Amino acid sequence: MPAALTIKDLSYRFPQRATPALDRISFEVQPGECVALLGPNGAGKSTLLLHLNGLLPEQFEGAPRIWIDGDPIQPGNLPEIRRKVGLLFQDPEDQIISATVFEDVAFGPRQLGITGTDLNRLVSDCLSRVGLPGFEAREPHRLSHGEKRRVCLAGVLACRPSILVLDEPTSDLDPRGRREFKALLRGLPGAKILATHDLELAVDLCQRSIILDSGRLVAQGETLELLANEELMLAHGLERPHSLLHAHPHQAEYQLHRL
Ligand code: ADP
Repeated sequence: MPAALTIKDLSYRFPQRATPALDRISFEVQPGECVALLGPNGAGKSTLLLHLNGLLPEQFEGAPRIWIDGDPIQPGNLPEIRRKVGLLFQDPEDQIISATVFEDVAFGPRQLGITGTDLNRLVSDCLSRVGLPGFEAREPHRLSHGEKRRVCLAGVLACRPSILVLDEPTSDLDPRGRREFKALLRGLPGAKILATHDLELAVDLCQRSIILDSGRLVAQGETLELLANEELMLAHGLERPHSLLHAHPHQAEYQLHRL
């Protein structure tokens, strides 16, 4: 079975910038795996995530550097790649496009040719999965921030992606919203890659993490091991999460199994 995501030697420089935003990045995400992308602001996390959906046109100038389920991302297969890669933007306001929740969740599957009762069933099923059953007629702009984010997630799930790409999925959520969204993500099948400053989220959901800094991949490995490495964390503008501050290694192990 091919990796859900393979990146080989990916570099990228924004046209007007002197230094690369991504510098020779290589890693894989296996089917079903959830991987956290960590690093300070400006590390290149969002730029990397945009590449996974083919959103930066200059990325197609050389040979393919990214494969989804073994298929290279290239101009000829972008519609198929965009169906397979479900990208949840950081700000739901950037993702919501319709006047009703139904239309918003239905947008992607409609593009895939799903209509009628199949579409109705799919939308209602996806809304139930994200904890918003019966929200079809609601107006997205009147929902809370957490609900908007769930609507966006329902729209992404409706396209049945093979990998979910999440940019700061818990930012701007209150503690309860964060807890609920985390539980929701944990219950979703398929591979996930999430960029986050929420290290508790990384510990809770991702067995493996990758640290980026200045466009370079500076470390990857078991999340608990990386986060326990104080020198590494400080060197890249990160902090050990509160829940691990006083943990001994065997407690950290316990922490992982509890989740
Ligand atoms: P992160 O998501 O880790 O905070 P970004 O991917 O947003 O990092 O940014 C990586 C680098 O690319 C930064 O130096 C940033 O200033 C630069 N950058 C991001 N977007 C653009 C853009 N549209 N034009 C030029 N430079 C950009």
